[in-house]
Amino acid sequence: MAGPSQAAGRAESETGAGTVILKMTVSKSLWFVLLASALALLACDRTKQTIEVQPPAALQPSVAINFPPDNGPPPSIDSARAMQYVKDIVKFGPRPLGSANHKKVEDFLESHLQGDDVENDVFTADTPVGKFPVHNIIAKFPGKKDGIILIASHYDTNYPLRNTSYVGANDGASSSALLLEFANQLRGKPLDGYSIWLIWDDAEEAMVPDTQMDFMADSLYGITHLAEKWHADGTLKKVKAFLLADMIGDADLNIDRDLNSTPWLEDTVGEAAKRLGYQSHFFGRENQVSDDHIPFMKRGVACADLIDFSYGYNNVFWHTPQDTVDKLSPESLQIVGSVILETIRILDKMEPLPPKTS
Ligand SMILES: [Zn+2]
Repeated sequence: MAGPSQAAGRAESETGAGTVILKMTVSKSLWFVLLASALALLACDRTKQTIEVQPPAALQPSVAINFPPDNGPPPSIDSARAMQYVKDIVKFGPRPLGSANHKKVEDFLESHLQGDDVENDVFTADTPVGKFPVHNIIAKFPGKKDGIILIASHYDTNYPLRNTSYVGANDGASSSALLLEFANQLRGKPLDGYSIWLIWDDAEEAMVPDTQMDFMADSLYGITHLAEKWHADGTLKKVKAFLLADMIGDADLNIDRDLNSTPWLEDTVGEAAKRLGYQSHFFGRENQVSDDHIPFMKRGVACADLIDFSYGYNNVFWHTPQDTVDKLSPESLQIVGSVILETIRILDKMEPLPPKTS
């Protein structure tokens, strides 16, 4: 099955349940937009389009999930503070791997995690354009239950766009800012549920345009290293779920149902959204996304990628200098932030958790 690609202008998403066709009105201006998009794609890489997990996880048979009862006050975050973090990160300018700005963002993230239990995973990546230092930052917040829930976001910007004004406000900054706000929410409170580890992973973006090289062979450097390391030292056995946030700040928020994620965990995200009244922002579209969750999916960890891969019509702002703060909203950060926290609240009460393949 060919992978649907919003960025490439395709409007079909085939699923096991049938074919979802997004309505498009073909006009002269649309053809112009499609042509412009095609030209833009030739100029930069096309991350997040390759199908890697075969067969698609979401096509596997699903089991009925008994969600725990809805109780307790709904979670929320300080979305204004999260939005300020987005602006702070973007202010450093482009932050491609190996750049001075990248180092400044590393320092910025760490300055907001002082006093927290932080693991630095530093290594050298051998990329098609040379060796680069890679720095994953993990902040750990202990819980009473035995097990870990991971929440991840990449913070680097696309390397081939390093000499443009591209700052990745949505792609990288929005989710990294959200994780900083999660740290504020989790800090200093003994968690009744699972431990929560926040991962700011590095070198997610490709180093060369995908017209020159397959995206999966030239991306996800940081998170792949972390998955290998935690597989080797046994940490992965304790991981109950991997929640990924990517491109979640778009003011026009529509989180895709990702067919490369674990169906029951996607269902749980959907249940969390419903409980908070945010379901209209979730799963109106299906997509099959290759993103930071893939190395964990391949190692049997339940994953859900929360991504809105329709950033402007036909994803036109993605990987362009137009990915700027004015396209984002604190409301979107609030919606995704509180849905992730509600998802964790549900997971904390699910006993036992469903198997990965259901
Ligand atoms: Zn990107």
